[in-house]
Amino acid sequence: MLELLSAEVPTTRDHLEHELLRVRGEIEIRELYFSRLAAALYAMEIAEDIEAEQTPIDWLRINCRLTQQAAADRVHIGQKLPVMPLSENCLYTGEVGIQHLAVMARTAIAVGDGFDESRLLPLAKKHSPGRFYHESLHYRHSMRPKEVAKEQANLAETRWLSMSTGEDGCLVLQGVLDPVGGAAVRTALEPLAKPMGKHDHRDRSKRLADALVERVTGCGKVNVQMQVTSSLETLLGLLGAPGAETEFSLPVSSKTVERWACDCSLTRVLMQDSVVIDVGRSQRTISGPKRRALVARDKHCQWPGCERPASYCDGHHIVHWIDGGGLELENMALLCQRHHWMVHEGGWQIVKTETDGLLPVAPMGSIERFFNQLQV
Ligand SMILES: [Zn+2]
Ligand SMILES: [Zn+2]
Repeated sequence: MLELLSAEVPTTRDHLEHELLRVRGEIEIRELYFSRLAAALYAMEIAEDIEAEQTPIDWLRINCRLTQQAAADRVHIGQKLPVMPLSENCLYTGEVGIQHLAVMARTAIAVGDGFDESRLLPLAKKHSPGRFYHESLHYRHSMRPKEVAKEQANLAETRWLSMSTGEDGCLVLQGVLDPVGGAAVRTALEPLAKPMGKHDHRDRSKRLADALVERVTGCGKVNVQMQVTSSLETLLGLLGAPGAETEFSLPVSSKTVERWACDCSLTRVLMQDSVVIDVGRSQRTISGPKRRALVARDKHCQWPGCERPASYCDGHHIVHWIDGGGLELENMALLCQRHHWMVHEGGWQIVKTETDGLLPVAPMGSIERFFNQLQV
């Protein structure tokens, strides 16, 4: 190895590129061998059932100086090689890299039985690892739509933002947004953050800060247009459907599209066999007199105890229009964004009662969590 340090570096572009590709190929094959070893270490520890202080992934992370993700990826690649023999061969021939195999292995774990590498391999060969990950989510959505929706819902539950004021009065923002929430924020800010003419010397972070302030001080009624490209199958939530595409985000689940389609400033492009079959209007699907009647009746979010005013609420279809629900007032209720989210992505149901208005019914998982908490 050491002799490499004194090896001559090629001086022509062609030679440099050739040498880079050759060395990269060697590294990838060694990475594969490393992954096999990592999986063997993991299997050994599980088999011996040792109460070790460190998990095998921690051991790899610390001793092999890897990030948590990189260590876990190596173990997963080693574990999943038996279900991705074609991909392994393509690594030897240089058609895919170790990062493609990491995405493939993660997908194999997420999909479980029924994983079919031959559906993903052409995409791995065609795309960079980052883009391949994006594409792999469509495959996952087609195989396990409920799990993908649940993962996205969980990510939304962990989003956070902190605001603190410095001594000079400046506001310091820090936070992490889930992919779907992040896409909404970016959709709102990106158009305002574009450079304005040739004398705009602000860097991107300055333009984004200006855009944020402009957006929130705009007029309070600026509707953000989310554009979603979705297949009819996705909108109907059918098994086997890919996720929907929206700018700035990874593929989003059919649950989110369903909420957006309920009543949102959403431009929807419906596709069937790669042909656009419908471009939805970018205005609220509940508008004009209908909306005024709904606002007059409900006045605020109809979730028990919530008083978010109508201007912050979406009109929710109790029976979704996709499922044949109509635009009659009886089929609609104002829900604030939080509660609208809970009904679609969060798995809650709302039932209309004769006397008490809307009755929310919690999803099964949350009831179990509630009882678990009681038992602690
Ligand atoms: Zn809704
Ligand atoms: Zn509410």
